[in-house]
Amino acid sequence: MIGTGMIGRDHIRRVTDVVTGAQVVAVTDIDVERAKEIASTIDARVLPTGHDVINDPLVDAVVVTSWGPTHAEYVLAAIAAGKPVFCEKPLATAAEDGLRIVEAEQAFGRRLVQVGFMRRYDAGYRAMKRVIDSGEIGAPLLMHCVHRNQSVPQTYHSDMAVQDTAVHEIDIIRWLLDDDIVSTQVITPRRTANRFGHLQDPQVMLFETSGGVRIDLEVFVNCQYGYDIQCETVGETGTVRLPDPADVWLRSAGQLRTGVLQDWQQRFAAAFDREFTEWVASIADGRLCGPSAWDGYATALISDATTEARHTGRVVTLARPDRPAFYAT
Ligand code: NAP
Repeated sequence: MIGTGMIGRDHIRRVTDVVTGAQVVAVTDIDVERAKEIASTIDARVLPTGHDVINDPLVDAVVVTSWGPTHAEYVLAAIAAGKPVFCEKPLATAAEDGLRIVEAEQAFGRRLVQVGFMRRYDAGYRAMKRVIDSGEIGAPLLMHCVHRNQSVPQTYHSDMAVQDTAVHEIDIIRWLLDDDIVSTQVITPRRTANRFGHLQDPQVMLFETSGGVRIDLEVFVNCQYGYDIQCETVGETGTVRLPDPADVWLRSAGQLRTGVLQDWQQRFAAAFDREFTEWVASIADGRLCGPSAWDGYATALISDATTEARHTGRVVTLARPDRPAFYAT
């Protein structure tokens, strides 16, 4: 486990308490004290660097949960060592690095990389994909997506609305529609007064796929009231939308009300558990099948184009990249 920050600790707990067939044997973090603290609770060793973890003979598979700009280096090192590697998003902060990973993995000759796009393991999104694939709503025409966080820290800047936040929708749109985004635009409405002056919040992103499906995505990361993820697909003969996360509806004192989840850990806890359970099982089976390095690379291309679209105010088009047969699912 490389990086023992917020999600690293959560994945350590998951591997230790939820998943069978895996054990955390070595951890590292730039903050050695942080690594030591968590290692002492699970009887794991603390190694000096990520490269020491990757090359340790007791390590069969690697999880990268360090800061985004370090991901590509560790993933390439894991491929060089021939070890399966689960990398939290983003696979790479620049598309060129994503391409280097895709090329290195193909040169190795077998899939080793999985990217942490955990929404593909969410029961609601999986049900939506089954409906779309069944043809019951006809050909998809439109999608309406919403990604709202209660608040973000001051270090969050306007580009992160794409690179950190919208990447989840970019991946799930590609997966649900089995298509790529070839046109992107960002519209910036009046800013909320509830947060920092440097931050453009909310933002509206408009995407088009190669098949002509139009998608609008609202990213609003200081909405104040909770963590709210919505998605509706409009087809030729019907629509399908994500269910609200399970909670009771309370009728009392002349009112009808329900709760809103407050953070992403609550909302996607079951998806993260399933993601790690299936990843560990797929390593044991010798056939990785989760989100691939290609998905990480394709998402980085769209993310870069969307960042350019926000900076220039223009519609940015991109060619649909040719997926190598190696990554055919
Ligand atoms: P975090 O709390 O800042 O944790 C990252 C940890 O990695 C920190 O302890 C950091 O140390 C350490 N680190 C940085 N560079 C390192 C290096 N070269 N080698 C070893 N350790 C290093 O961040 P986080 O929220 O856990 O996020 C980590 C990654 O997971 C990010 O890429 C993020 O986008 C992703 N993530 C994904 C999801 C999801 O929904 N799938 C959710 C949350 C996060 P310092 O603090 O000293 O720099």
